[in-house]
Amino acid sequence: YAQRPFIFKRGQETPVLQKVTFSLQEGECLGIVGQSGSGKSTLGRIILGIERPTNGEVLFQGINLYNATNKHKKMIRRDLQAVFQNSYHSFNPEQTIFEILEEPFLNFEHFSKSERQHKVRELLDCVELESTMAQNYPSQLSGGQQQRVNIARALALNPKLIVLDEAISSLDMILQKHIIQLLQTLQKDLQLAYIFISHDLQATRFLSDRILVMQHGQLVEEIGKDGAYQHPASQELYNAILPLH
Ligand code: ATP
Ligand code: MG
Repeated sequence: YAQRPFIFKRGQETPVLQKVTFSLQEGECLGIVGQSGSGKSTLGRIILGIERPTNGEVLFQGINLYNATNKHKKMIRRDLQAVFQNSYHSFNPEQTIFEILEEPFLNFEHFSKSERQHKVRELLDCVELESTMAQNYPSQLSGGQQQRVNIARALALNPKLIVLDEAISSLDMILQKHIIQLLQTLQKDLQLAYIFISHDLQATRFLSDRILVMQHGQLVEEIGKDGAYQHPASQELYNAILPLH
């Protein structure tokens, strides 16, 4: 996964993102932090192919996301997954949890009904939801339960990269810890790479090999696992990151 510098503008305003460039290896865990409005979610959407950059390109396994053939698009839809903060709107309210979690297998695998049932049970178990929940509709679940269904769906097909944008912020501390452990296990066992976008510096630091810091739409700092800074950052930013130490 690699990316050429790009900028992103909305209308004639000042660019939301500028000169953003970074790359990510297979199985790497990257954190992205920054103050509210610094462009984290916009960057996440561009990485996912949801918003097209004004300039530059985003490469996923060497393929330009915004210029891919249909065959490659299908591969990318399978290997590149996302979990956003509020999952409710990403569900079809008329589908049961079973139908929601079965869908990736219907789209990408040739599994029998019983294989799909088995997989869905496994997924629910992974995110610590009761298997009886499969018969419910999204509206019958709490926010945290919906979020876990969302995470389970993203994990269904063993993707290569997951972009998590404030994906666990709404969960209680114990569940957050369990989801973090789950991600770390998958990262080790399946070479899953993830981009963890969050304002929670503690969790981000714990989960990431490397942290990029955004400010006013630019990447202004890179923090290694040892907490060392690569570039001298502004005082304002330094203060915002200080709780890390
Ligand atoms: P937060 O931590 O609050 O989620 P963020 O770092 O994710 O913030 P973004 O949502 O990427 O920030 O927003 C970056 C900038 O783009 C902000 O100045 C915001 O006002 C602007 N922006 C975001 N979405 C839109 C939109 N749909 N239309 C116009 N401007 C937008
Ligand atoms: Mg955001």
